Amino acid sequence: MSVEGSQRSTGRYRPTNSNDPGWDYGQPVDGNRDHVKCDFCGHVSKGGIKRLKQNLVKASYKGTMYKDVRKCDKVLQDVVDVLRLYGRKTKNNRRETK
Ligand SMILES: [Zn+2]
Repeated sequence: MSVEGSQRSTGRYRPTNSNDPGWDYGQPVDGNRDHVKCDFCGHVSKGGIKRLKQNLVKASYKGTMYKDVRKCDKVLQDVVDVLRLYGRKTKNNRRETK
């Protein structure tokens, strides 16, 4: 399985056509985009970037939200805010086609 995307000048991986901020805080393991390693705690989420983002934002939710997801205990609040805002935006832009 090949991975589409590019190494940016920063050396970080980001999929082609993705502006998902999740890739600023996690990177694929061995080129496998389904296995994304958290920049903060080093935990590898095996459900792709979406799962990694749940790992990150979980810290700011109480109760049983994402109960199957391991919580990131090192993530910064600023990052959680960015990801939550992004999640809200994408929810409101479902009809966007490209
Ligand atoms: Zn983490």
